[in-house]
Amino acid sequence: MCGLYAARRLAAAGVRVTVIEKLPRVGGLAASMERDGVHYDLGVKHLHAHDGEIFKDIQSLMGDDLLPVELNAKIRFGKQFRKYPLKLADLLGGIPPWTIAWLFGGLSIQQVLNNFSKAAPENAEAALIRLYGGPLYRYFFRDFTHRYWGIPPTELSATFVSRKMPRLGAVDLLKQFFARLGAKSSYNTDVENALAEETLYYSRQGAIAIPRRLRETIESDGGTVITGASVTGLKVAGGGSGGAGKAVRQVVYQDSGGEHTLDCDHVINTIPLPHLIRLMDPPCSPEVADSASQLRFRPIVVYGLLVKRRGILGALYVYYRSRMFHRIAEPTESGLDSKLPGHGVLLVECTCSRDDPVWNDSAEARDRLFKDLVAEGVVSRDEVVAMHHQRTEFGYPLFALGFEEHHDRVAEFVNSVPNLDSVGRQGAFCYPNMHETMRQGADAVDQFLK
Ligand SMILES: Cc1cc2nc3c(=O)[nH]c(=O)nc-3n(C[C@H](O)[C@H](O)[C@H](O)COP(=O)(O)OP(=O)(O)OC[C@H]3O[C@@H](n4cnc5c(N)ncnc54)[C@H](O)[C@@H]3O)c2cc1C
Repeated sequence: MCGLYAARRLAAAGVRVTVIEKLPRVGGLAASMERDGVHYDLGVKHLHAHDGEIFKDIQSLMGDDLLPVELNAKIRFGKQFRKYPLKLADLLGGIPPWTIAWLFGGLSIQQVLNNFSKAAPENAEAALIRLYGGPLYRYFFRDFTHRYWGIPPTELSATFVSRKMPRLGAVDLLKQFFARLGAKSSYNTDVENALAEETLYYSRQGAIAIPRRLRETIESDGGTVITGASVTGLKVAGGGSGGAGKAVRQVVYQDSGGEHTLDCDHVINTIPLPHLIRLMDPPCSPEVADSASQLRFRPIVVYGLLVKRRGILGALYVYYRSRMFHRIAEPTESGLDSKLPGHGVLLVECTCSRDDPVWNDSAEARDRLFKDLVAEGVVSRDEVVAMHHQRTEFGYPLFALGFEEHHDRVAEFVNSVPNLDSVGRQGAFCYPNMHETMRQGADAVDQFLK
């Protein structure tokens, strides 16, 4: 989305632009797999309207194909399903009073303790305890965070809490109450809460409809989009004394027709940052190469299920905290066309590592998945008409302890090449939504055009 949107802006401005995409289809994380006319997205993918300019532009491109849908999400918490994001009443409902007293006692004590600890928290566990207190951290965050990321919160950076983790809105309300009483916390994070009410946007053709439309506009404005072509090298010239004149002059890529070289004035990179560093010719210094290799990603597998039933979840998506999957979406409730009347599509998201059986779609993984689906009362095996496995190594940038130093070193190298930008979720190693990644592409272009 980031690269396509940048190319849309460039082509519209009359700049000669080429998009090079490794996969046979455009869209990256926002692409969908098509089977028997049904589109299975790589996880839940709704467009937010928060960026007015980007949204209006996409709306003008998509016309009636952009369907509004009211946010309706849930979280399985304890024995119940609660509305997501959690409201105070939802959080407290069904929890014994002594547990509530223990959780909020911990939160109150932490508010006071925070006034004495000015140093930055040393890891995600310490950051979460500062925000929520020990009892609430252990009750709500610890195990889920470990399962989701595959490493304990003590091995995750505190930056993860401030940049990725949405705050628990219900607890924020209580903290505002404490603040009014004078116990204002000195530690806070800047991640916005998920909105409780929001109109989201989707397409009958699934998430891929937007990137596909972007491709059409790039091509009709004279740009080129090459799919099934992997970038294999960036040839850098200059940079002798003091780095003067350093610039990427050629992009090398490989497709079914062999190796090709493209002369260029400017490169907007959106492929994973560690891969970009490996493509540099001449190679980067061993320090930069080593730092790049320390930037890791958490893979994700998404099972797409075609089910003989609709309205399965009673929500657009549901979070689960103790299952093999962490979220299930039902895009047919957002307007996806399932082709068969009365049939629904489910997208079952599982973060994993590459040595997890689910990564290779083993029979054992499918058995475990169905066990969990049945235990949650989602579907039985005989209701599932088709099941498709999709995966990507680059689901989530992993903010492991100490990643900042490596990221800064790599970013410093990228910034030393004036005609190279590295943006987007993989290129900047961050967590944008689709509209934010398009914004990053647009900003890179505006800067370049200036
Ligand atoms: C499970 C999940 C759910 C999400 N839900 C939402 C949501 O509901 N709403 C929302 O707004 N956002 C959502 N997001 C985020 C959104 O999908 C991403 O932020 C966005 O799609 C990232 O776009 P990008 O262009 O930055 O990166 P990518 O989509 O990763 O693009 C990078 C591209 O580079 C290509 N590439 C890699 N190597 C090479 C190479 N050597 N040569 C050529 N090409 C190469 C890749 O194939 C890919 O197409 C979700 C993300 C995930 C993982």
